[in-house]
Amino acid sequence: MYIDTHAHLTFPDFAADLPEVIKRAREARLEAIINIALDDGAVSRSRELSRDYPDFIYTGAGLHPHEASEWNDNSYKKYRSLAKEQKLIAIGETGLDYHYKLSPIDQQKKVFRAFLQLAQELGLPAVIHSREAARDTIDIIREENKGKLKGVLHCFAGDPDLQRAALDQGLLISFTANITYPKADLIRTAAKETPLDRIMIETDCPFLAPQAFRGQRNEPSYVVKVAEKIAEVKGLTAEEVALATTANARRLFGI
Ligand SMILES: [Zn+2]
Ligand SMILES: [Zn+2]
Repeated sequence: MYIDTHAHLTFPDFAADLPEVIKRAREARLEAIINIALDDGAVSRSRELSRDYPDFIYTGAGLHPHEASEWNDNSYKKYRSLAKEQKLIAIGETGLDYHYKLSPIDQQKKVFRAFLQLAQELGLPAVIHSREAARDTIDIIREENKGKLKGVLHCFAGDPDLQRAALDQGLLISFTANITYPKADLIRTAAKETPLDRIMIETDCPFLAPQAFRGQRNEPSYVVKVAEKIAEVKGLTAEEVALATTANARRLFGI
């Protein structure tokens, strides 16, 4: 019924009990998980997971803006081959993160542009990360969208300008369990104002556990909490949100 459209299952946090985590996800009525792999090792482990859990775990790959410094002259080609060899269903995450600035801003922008070009060349959706960088994210999406860009603004933090621009550009918006946090009025407003056919849900686990489990490790089964909160702000049932967001995810990722 649900799809967790953004998880990091190859992080060390899941090394000890991943089969249990996946079992709980199935029990919570998840029908797929998009696993986001952020280095070469993670891509191959994610592919193994796709073989172990066919039609349940899918792989997207990119470089987090924190690691944009690792991009070099061969990277574009490398990701192009990876996409074909490893059956990637999405490019990313990629984007801009000015909160910690772990990679220089100019390098983040350059890599973000390259991934948006690659996603369009391959006809794959881009998974976009934007933190405290709304203005530059909007400019780059507008400039790089050659009319073929599809994708999602993941872990949406609620900036209304970014929300409008993303919807204008045909992107979807994905919400995590930070929508359940007491101070997250901006995010709840954004969910209320985003049309249901443009919304997806995700955990971004192991990060951002829902309010009820805050401070603990997050996991895909908790994506249900995101659906419940969106249902609450939109005056719908969790089932209605699940049906719509799952259809949106299947359409976007072609799964
Ligand atoms: Zn992210
Ligand atoms: Zn992520």
